[in-house]
Amino acid sequence: MTATRVPGVPAIEDGVLISTNPATGEEAGRVPVASPTSIADAVRRAREAATWWQALGYDGRKDRLLRWRSLIVQRIDELAQLTSLETGKPDADAIMETVAAIEHLDWAARHARKVLGPRRTRTRVLLAEHTGHLEYQPYGVVGVIGPWNYPIVTPVGPICGALAAGNAVVFKPSEYTPIVGQWLVDTFAEVAPEQPVLQAVHGLGDVGAALCRAEVGKVAFTGSTATAKKVMAACAENLVPVVIEAGGKDALIVDADADIPAAADAAVWGGMTNAGQTCIGIERVYAVAPIYDSLVNEIVARAGKLRTGEEIGPITMPRQIDVIREHIDDALAKGGKAVLGGAGAVQPPYVAPTVLVDVPADSSEIRDETFGPTLTITKVADADEAIRLANDTAYGLGGAVFGKRDAIRIARRLRSGMVSVNSTLTFVGMGNLPFGGVGDSGFGRIHGEDGLREFAIPKSITVRRARSLFPSTTFDRTPAQVRQIVKAVKLLYGRRS
Ligand code: NDP
Repeated sequence: MTATRVPGVPAIEDGVLISTNPATGEEAGRVPVASPTSIADAVRRAREAATWWQALGYDGRKDRLLRWRSLIVQRIDELAQLTSLETGKPDADAIMETVAAIEHLDWAARHARKVLGPRRTRTRVLLAEHTGHLEYQPYGVVGVIGPWNYPIVTPVGPICGALAAGNAVVFKPSEYTPIVGQWLVDTFAEVAPEQPVLQAVHGLGDVGAALCRAEVGKVAFTGSTATAKKVMAACAENLVPVVIEAGGKDALIVDADADIPAAADAAVWGGMTNAGQTCIGIERVYAVAPIYDSLVNEIVARAGKLRTGEEIGPITMPRQIDVIREHIDDALAKGGKAVLGGAGAVQPPYVAPTVLVDVPADSSEIRDETFGPTLTITKVADADEAIRLANDTAYGLGGAVFGKRDAIRIARRLRSGMVSVNSTLTFVGMGNLPFGGVGDSGFGRIHGEDGLREFAIPKSITVRRARSLFPSTTFDRTPAQVRQIVKAVKLLYGRRS
C-alpha cells in the first residue's frame, strides 16, 4: 500500500523512511528505519570500530579525515543538489553550508594532535618528585543527533570533532534530511572502508531517544530546546554527558556610527538566508534613534528585492509555517506594523520576506524562535537600551553588532556564545573558533579547540621519579615533616602576592 505523500513530510512505509522535497513532493530518497535492536547493534559495531580507529593514531586519522574532506570538495555539486532537493534551499546556500563544513573538517583533522596529544605538565614544588602527564582519551562511541535546517554543517561539526579525537560515531540525521545524512556516512566509508567508524541510524524522534539510551559515551545534540530537554532526560538515566546546540533568537544591534547599507545587508541576509531557518539567524534588530529611519528604509528596500521561490526557498518543515504565521499575527494584533510582507506573506510552502516595526516586547515574534524570513526592527535610545532588550531573552546563541567606536564593547556585553562585529554569522565559518550558546541555546561547544576537547576525557597521570621531599601521602610521615610542609606552604603561598 502506498501512503499519501505530503510535500516535505517524511513518510514511513514498510519500515522505510521516504524523504520528499518540501516544495514539490518529489521523492529525495529512501532509507531503512532503525529498530531498537539495530541501534544497539550499530553502537556495538561502533565500539569495535573505535578500537581500530584509535589505533590509527592522530596521523592516521588525520589522513582519513583529510581524504574525506577532499572527497566532499570534489563532489560538492552533488551534495549541494541533494541538499536542495531534500530541504528546498537554493543550491548556493547548500554550497556555502558545505564550505563551512569543509573548513571545520580540515581544522579538526589538522589540530587534533596539538590540542589533544599527550603532554607533560609543569612540576609543582610540593610534589617535585612527581611528573604530571595529561592525556585526552576518546569516549569510544559518540551519538550525534542532527537537525534538518543545515543538514551538512551542523552534524559535521560534532562528527569531525568526535572522529578527530578518536571516537566512532553513530549519527541520527533528522527525519527530514536522512538522505544527506546517509551521503555523509557513505562518503566517509569510501575513505575508511575497513570498519564502520561512522554509521547512520534513521527514523523519527524515538530513534534519537533510543540512541541516547544505547550505551554511547557522549551525545552531541543539535535541535530545538524542547527536544534538548528530552535528550538530557534520556541521557541522565545513565549519566551520559551531552553537548546541547539548541535554538536562538539572535539580535543585531546598529549603533549611531554604523555603516547603514552594510548593517541592512547583514540584517537581511542574516535574517533571511535559508528562508530564516537558521539557528544563528538574525531575528531581531535594535537600532538607535538617529539612524533608525534610514536603516528601516534600507532593510525594506533590500528585502523587497528578494524573490520568493528563488533566493527565499520553501519552509522545509510544514508545521513551522503555522509557527511563523502565529508570530506575525501576534505581532500585528499587539500593535506591530508590517513595513514589508505581513499577514499575507505566508503562502505555503513559502513565506515572503516580512519586516515588522513597533512590535511589543511581549509578542511571540520578539520572544520565541520564529525560524522564518521575518525581522523585527525596534527603535532604542542608545546602545545600553539595545543591549538590555537584546539580552531580554531566554536564548543566548549568537548576535551581531554594527558600529565603530563601541562595537566590540557592545559585543562583549551581549549575553550569547558568539557575536560578529560589522558582519553576520561569520563566527560559524572559522574553524578555530568555538561554536555554542548559553541559556536556552544550550551548553558545550563544537568547533575549534574547545570543540575537540568536548569529545575527549582528560586523563591525569602522575609518575613518581624520586623519594619524597615532603612526604604527605603516607602514615609514615613524622610531625617534623608536617611542620616542614607547613613552613614550605607559608613560604610559597603565605605572602599577599
Ligand atoms: P528537533 O529538536 O525537532 O529535532 C532535532 C533532532 O532530534 C532530529 O534528528 C529529531 O528527529 C531528533 N529527536 C526528536 N525527538 C527526539 C527525542 N525524544 N530524543 C532524541 N532525539 C529526538 O529540531 P529540528 O530538527 O526541528 O531543528 C530545528 C531546531 O534546531 C531549531 O530550534 C534550531 O534553532 C536548532 N538548531 C540549532 C543549531 C545550533 O547549532 N545551536 C543549529 C541548527 C539548528 P526527527 O527529525 O526524526 O524528529
